[in-house]
Amino acid sequence: MRSKLKEKKMAIEEKTKNFIRNFVDVDLAQKRYSYVMTRFPPEPNGYLHIGHAKSICLNFGLALDYGGKCNMRFDDTNPVKEDVEYVESIQNDVRWLGFDWADRLYYASDYFDKLYECAEKLIRSGWAYVCDLSPEQVRDYRGTLTEPGRQSPWRERTVEENLDLFRRMRAGDFDEGQKFLRAKIDMSSPNLNMRDPALYRIKKASHHRTGERWLIYPMYDYAHCISDAIEGVTHSICTLEFEDHRPLYDWVLEKLDWPAPRPRQIEFARLNLEYTLMSKRKLLQLVKENYVEGWDDPRLPTLAALRKRGVTPSAIRLFCERIGVAKKDSWIELEWLEKAIRDDLNPQVKRVMAVLEPLKVVIENFPEEGQEVIEAPYFPDNPDLMGYRPLKLSREIYIERDDFRLEPPKGYFRLAPGREVRLRWSKYIHCHEVKLNQDGEVIELRCFYSDQPTGTGAGAKNKAAIIHWVSATDSIAATVKLYDRLFSQNKPSGDLENELNSSSLKVCDQAFIEKSLAEAKTGDRFQFERLGYFLVNQEGLRPVFSRIVTLKDSWSKIQAKKN
Ligand code: ATP
Ligand code: MG
Repeated sequence: MRSKLKEKKMAIEEKTKNFIRNFVDVDLAQKRYSYVMTRFPPEPNGYLHIGHAKSICLNFGLALDYGGKCNMRFDDTNPVKEDVEYVESIQNDVRWLGFDWADRLYYASDYFDKLYECAEKLIRSGWAYVCDLSPEQVRDYRGTLTEPGRQSPWRERTVEENLDLFRRMRAGDFDEGQKFLRAKIDMSSPNLNMRDPALYRIKKASHHRTGERWLIYPMYDYAHCISDAIEGVTHSICTLEFEDHRPLYDWVLEKLDWPAPRPRQIEFARLNLEYTLMSKRKLLQLVKENYVEGWDDPRLPTLAALRKRGVTPSAIRLFCERIGVAKKDSWIELEWLEKAIRDDLNPQVKRVMAVLEPLKVVIENFPEEGQEVIEAPYFPDNPDLMGYRPLKLSREIYIERDDFRLEPPKGYFRLAPGREVRLRWSKYIHCHEVKLNQDGEVIELRCFYSDQPTGTGAGAKNKAAIIHWVSATDSIAATVKLYDRLFSQNKPSGDLENELNSSSLKVCDQAFIEKSLAEAKTGDRFQFERLGYFLVNQEGLRPVFSRIVTLKDSWSKIQAKKN
């Protein structure tokens, strides 16, 4: 019995193993490495998003599973775009996600001296040269996918001349764009990355860590492999667009005679999530041009935004685990993320009631000052788990405007004139009169209540639907914010003028919440029955609840209704 269970468990584990683990297994078995060392290498030029979370979970997860280590390394080789604000937010977000790099926090800029030394070594062994072509000329000489490139007229400079020029580049003798150091590989290579790629360029910019010390900065492709090698990284995991850069990664270490074991680059498919975008450039534009209220606007896919929205780190880890790691680019449906959030919150939070768009109901056969106290469980599936709270039924209650129709369409099973519904945890109400204002809008319903159904429900065999409600006298006024998808297109191209969802934030400022929520504190989470999971924020004296995620499929139901 035991072994069967174990077998089953192992089979599941095998299934969830990603292809990268298979590589690691083979490498360890073949003794290419005796340990596992990974790294998470963000460029500090923006906030981390859920795509980065995939990479973080993968890199730190591998290290954990194999008893190895994962370094945190900032790839800070481009001083123009980088900022300490991002360095701080990134560390904060990785920690929040639940991962720890201990004392192994590194910066590519820590290696600037070593990188410079390596560049001189390449020059001395004839694998790099200083080129004077302008950026336009470089493009022209590079050739295309179908045509080979042409050799730079500066390709045959002597080692002495190259060394002298490179040192003078460093000393500031030349302007930006006047000269650059490039690898001497093969201008006719079918891989454009191998056509004498740039290794160092002049940038007279101040760096957030090295200040004014450097006037030349290494290119990403050159700095990355050496940084990995310096740190003893075994598996350098990156996204698919770097697949064509792998020959250069290997070339640099080979030409430097880097001792074995050298790191091995493995590419995986980046996460694309429907109805949102991951490009930091686009996210920056959304923030800078005020389409959203900052990097942590709850509609963004950044980790700061997800945190502010009330999503837990364990939900994000669950999501990353479920989507797995593949070698082919694809778009993941938003439903995957939403499901992970629900599955994570479901066993943790209390169920309560709130009415977002209230419609007043007067129960005429209810005594004027009377009230009935109902002990309602916070967690109906297992009431003992979270206990009970009193709900007070009163003569006047609020129900959701959407739970009533003057002229119910076919298939509408909730309240309508002459029909009945059941109040959650309470009795049946039967609507016998509707009050309208001068504009013909429904402003009040007059109902009778009863312990037993009268058989005027609209469901199967006249079974009454159950709706949520709050007492008009035993509730609290609140503001509720409903966040929706940021883009209206499922695969947005990034056209902010035309693709943004204009109703991605709806504010319900007339909402009422049940009295028990008077105790709720900022940061608490609840499920509002039938409406979704919500996070509490106190803004001034008024409680604000913002929706973390809807309940299953409620969005598609609303869509279907609109159509
Ligand atoms: P962008 O292209 O938006 O600027 P980036 O890839 O340049 O993003 P980095 O800061 O370089 O961002 O990313 C750090 C790590 O996170 C890299 O290893 C990168 O491959 C990984 N990463 C970035 N975006 C995603 C994504 N959408 N899915 C999976 N991994 C990602
Ligand atoms: Mg990058």
